[in-house]
Amino acid sequence: MVGYPLRCMNSTSDAIVIGGGIMGLAIADRLARGGLRVTLLERNRCGRGASWAAAGLLKPSSPNRTGPMQDLHRSSLAAYKAFCADLLERTGIDPQFARHGSIEVLFEDQRFRMAASEERAGLDQPMPDGSVTWEMLTVEEARSVEPSLGQEGMGAIFCRSAAQVRTPRLLQALAHGCRNAGVQIIEGAAVEALLVEGERLGGVQTRAGRYEAPAVILAAGAWSNQVDDRLAQLMPAKPVRGQSLLLDGSGLATPNWGLVIECRGCYVLPRADGLVVVGATVEPGVGFDERTTEEGIGGLIAKAVSMVPALADAPLVKSWAGLRSCAPDARPYIGPVSGIDGLIAATTHYRTGITMAPITASAVADLIINGQTKEDISWCKPGRSFERKRSS
Ligand SMILES: Cc1cc2nc3c(=O)[nH]c(=O)nc-3n(C[C@H](O)[C@H](O)[C@H](O)COP(=O)(O)OP(=O)(O)OC[C@H]3O[C@@H](n4cnc5c(N)ncnc54)[C@H](O)[C@@H]3O)c2cc1C
Repeated sequence: MVGYPLRCMNSTSDAIVIGGGIMGLAIADRLARGGLRVTLLERNRCGRGASWAAAGLLKPSSPNRTGPMQDLHRSSLAAYKAFCADLLERTGIDPQFARHGSIEVLFEDQRFRMAASEERAGLDQPMPDGSVTWEMLTVEEARSVEPSLGQEGMGAIFCRSAAQVRTPRLLQALAHGCRNAGVQIIEGAAVEALLVEGERLGGVQTRAGRYEAPAVILAAGAWSNQVDDRLAQLMPAKPVRGQSLLLDGSGLATPNWGLVIECRGCYVLPRADGLVVVGATVEPGVGFDERTTEEGIGGLIAKAVSMVPALADAPLVKSWAGLRSCAPDARPYIGPVSGIDGLIAATTHYRTGITMAPITASAVADLIINGQTKEDISWCKPGRSFERKRSS
């Protein structure tokens, strides 16, 4: 395992974190509370990248899919309630975590059959109180759980372990928690180069100067592999745009707070104050374009109204877009970057970065502080080969 010389006498920091999204903030917070002197460098303002754009849907992966990636995902989901409660206690900012489940309305034969097989496979993964996690419902049964649902559909699948969190508040709480724990957060500081001597990384270069530390955590989201020329090959990834919007559902027969409604790749997240988030498009191939489009936003509204007809009368408050980062195998990069000793990646979580933040932060902090982590992160190694996967 890695093992970092934690107190480097020539540096004012023990660790530098590049990027102030959910990953960078969660890791910096863990490291600082572990006793390290941490500097976080953010080129803009913290919590305004993909993390800010995210809806905050926290959903388990399909029970039909098993493996170390799903195990890590499940552990992170299980840790979320305590993660948010701890932040609330330390900062007074409530990320509004709510585990009220999700209902997916099923419209296509193929998805209906898959949902039925998820119900069967999910019997092995019951809720802590012993109730089933996934349950098929008729449309009438679904409407008795959530009366705002429309009459259409072949049926629905209820997932009891799905949850939501209000991401902008979670990010505020994390930034506050970092400052309380002593993290030096420097905004407007874009990292332009890694300072490498031989294979050993000693710090980073920004326009405003050098920052030195024995450990550097790369958490720059969709821009991670632009920080240094070597990284494009070691950690290939593409930006995938996601557009979302906010409707004002107050006073309307919209879903109860906390329950998530889904269909045809679109989800509706009712917040505690009557606002309703609708997300999200999945658009590879538009590069780093963060603009919304009429087609994208119009398509989301149409899908949302097909699930919850009352949303047709809900005024549009705002819309936005963000960039997810996706590796060729859609797995994140977590762990030491081979060939650049001292660089640890925590990036490219694609569609699950909000969900994965607690477990990624804890694994990376363990690696840096203890030289090892109990989590199996071998499958998301930076520098892994993608060729072998394609031919197998
Ligand atoms: C529309 C949309 C909806 C989503 N919904 C969900 C959801 O419901 N649930 C879920 O789990 N996930 C969701 N995701 C995915 C999730 O948002 C991401 O996986 C996650 O936010 C990535 O976090 P991050 O910290 O790695 O990246 P970011 O939040 O993008 O943060 C990276 C930061 O690094 C900074 N940076 C970049 N380059 C440099 C540099 N050179 N120097 C200094 N700083 C730099 C950027 O300015 C940015 O602030 C969604 C994503 C989108 C776009």
